[in-house]
Amino acid sequence: MASEKRQKAIDLSHHLSDLSRARGVSPLKGLAKYFGRPGVISLAGGLPNPAYFPFNNIGADVLVPDSFSLNTTGQDESSLSWFWKFFGRAGKERTTSISIPKFSETTEQVSLAVALQYGGIGLRQLQAFLNEFVEKVYQPAYSDFSILVHTGNTDGWSRVMQTLINPGESFLTEEWTYTSALATTNPHGMHAVPIPMDKDGMSSTDLRSILAGWDEKARGCKRPHVMYTVPVGQNPCGYTMSSIRKKEIYNICVEYDIIIVEDDPYYFMQQEDYVPKSERSSQSTGKYVNEADWLASLSPSYLKFDYQGRVIRLDTFSKYIAPGSRLGWHTCSPLFAERLERQGETSTQTPCGFGQSLVTQLLTTWKYDGYIRWLHGIAVQYKNRRDFFIDTFGDEFHLVPSTSNIGFWKDRQVFDAYAKSKKCVMAEKGELGTKLFSFVPPSAGMFIWLKVHFENCPGANASGAERPEIQLWVKIAEAGVVISPGWFFAADEENPPTDETEGHFRISFSYADFETLRKAVKIIANVMKEFFRVSD
Ligand code: PMP
Ligand code: PLP
Repeated sequence: MASEKRQKAIDLSHHLSDLSRARGVSPLKGLAKYFGRPGVISLAGGLPNPAYFPFNNIGADVLVPDSFSLNTTGQDESSLSWFWKFFGRAGKERTTSISIPKFSETTEQVSLAVALQYGGIGLRQLQAFLNEFVEKVYQPAYSDFSILVHTGNTDGWSRVMQTLINPGESFLTEEWTYTSALATTNPHGMHAVPIPMDKDGMSSTDLRSILAGWDEKARGCKRPHVMYTVPVGQNPCGYTMSSIRKKEIYNICVEYDIIIVEDDPYYFMQQEDYVPKSERSSQSTGKYVNEADWLASLSPSYLKFDYQGRVIRLDTFSKYIAPGSRLGWHTCSPLFAERLERQGETSTQTPCGFGQSLVTQLLTTWKYDGYIRWLHGIAVQYKNRRDFFIDTFGDEFHLVPSTSNIGFWKDRQVFDAYAKSKKCVMAEKGELGTKLFSFVPPSAGMFIWLKVHFENCPGANASGAERPEIQLWVKIAEAGVVISPGWFFAADEENPPTDETEGHFRISFSYADFETLRKAVKIIANVMKEFFRVSD
């Protein structure tokens, strides 16, 4: 391992917020040096005696790592797990049991006496697993990165923004962004500065010009020194940033001294590019059957370019184990990790010991290779869902891929749907009729981001003063399908990056079974065709 060649994180303490600076060092830190000494009797902490914990043992039946196949023929394997649950011995054969005793025989094992006790930065065994995972998968470009568990990326971002940003300051983000991230910062008076996007995510050209032309007086605040970004399977747009773009943005952030907060819940939901049904019928398994090749095919984390320790990466188990596990972790420099730990000490403290111990036992049972195989299986499941969803959309709108124009499909270009006489067809820009909607097939995550073109829509101006986006959204909801209207996601709500001639919808293909997805698409298509006065 080239770890000796990597430099340590540089001192970026000037980025800490006033709040973070006002937090003292941990009073327990001074005591810590005594705790490790053999024979020391500690009467310092107010620790309840574990004998009084009512849980003697907890356990679970868990799926085996290869429960989901790498088969990309498009089967909905989520329905199989329900089948196993109700009918199957097969399900039992696909599980193993894990259990955690109150007291373990060796300190290597997870015990409830430790997991349910007060205690610092999370279970030692989980830290060890995550260190190996981060080193092997993300390969940070500096040597002394730290891992700090949190209770999911919502908590991760909440701690980071309080640790780095002062009320009244601004931060950079994609022009469309995750609404809860804004709900975290808005009440603190922190302003999102939207950066335009293209199909590869945040534009490095626009980022540079906004930073270069920053006018403190006109903007009413200092140039931002923090960026919040969702680079993979971007929420809401589903775009994934290439490594070239990440490198460009990283270099700009070095030049302008900006901390990058990489909120990356969809990293392992990266999918091969969408290929239309007719062209992929001969495929049965994905390109990658070897886990190392699959990992190498994923767009790298910002950590891979981070030779200075200016990236705070947020990972979460929400999409790979369960949102209710409320567990994730920061990867960042030791300086930021220490401040984030202090920040968490006054709110969540360490994540819940039940969840932590069960997840830790699961991961150490599966081991690194098993967890990677699990993640790969989940990625393939979401690819199948995405493909099914786009295929169904194509069927409903008679979207026909042009075989003479294969690059158009395979380059993750924008797909445009046009109304032509009585049909909607997918065609190359400008070729046919009135443009109805466009989307970029997502290359990661769980969302389709549909841009609807209302400029030539007779239905849009028919009823009252509501924006066409809302009019159409209400009609779809009344027909029985609830999707997310685009305006939720504008980084600058007062000046959304769009006008009344267009609207957006975020549609999730992650949850419903395939038949329900088909039904939903049918409803959306019917309402849209009626709205646009297009008939079959
Ligand atoms: N308040 C007081 C007065 C306490 O003594 C303690 C625990 N030592 C706490 C709060 C922390 O409580 P909890 O573990 O529920 O966060
Ligand atoms: N960040 C982004 C970009 C998300 O899309 C989500 C979930 O939808 C979260 C954070 C929330 O993650 P967690 O469950 O880890 O708090």
